[in-house]
Amino acid sequence: MQVNSVRKEEKAFKLLRENRIVLEEITKSGMVFKVIGDHGVYTVVADFITGKIFCECRWSQVNVEEPCSHVIAVSEFIKQNYPKAIGRLIKPC
Ligand SMILES: [Zn+2]
Repeated sequence: MQVNSVRKEEKAFKLLRENRIVLEEITKSGMVFKVIGDHGVYTVVADFITGKIFCECRWSQVNVEEPCSHVIAVSEFIKQNYPKAIGRLIKPC
């Protein structure tokens, strides 16, 4: 479990480093991103109303309790680029 989560973080930072997080839309109620993952392009939504970040990847559908690497990458992206927005989101991990 520990190893798995470290790998996920590594993957998330790799996505960030390689600029594979694309901000598509920003509104008062949230932000929409495209994340170019290893196995496909996923839409990730940061919802300011619920304070949650959702990803559409298959891993997320199975592991609903845990954030996927795409969600970790997006939360990090928001932290780095939109520090004011992160206060409106619940930390995913
Ligand atoms: Zn995902």
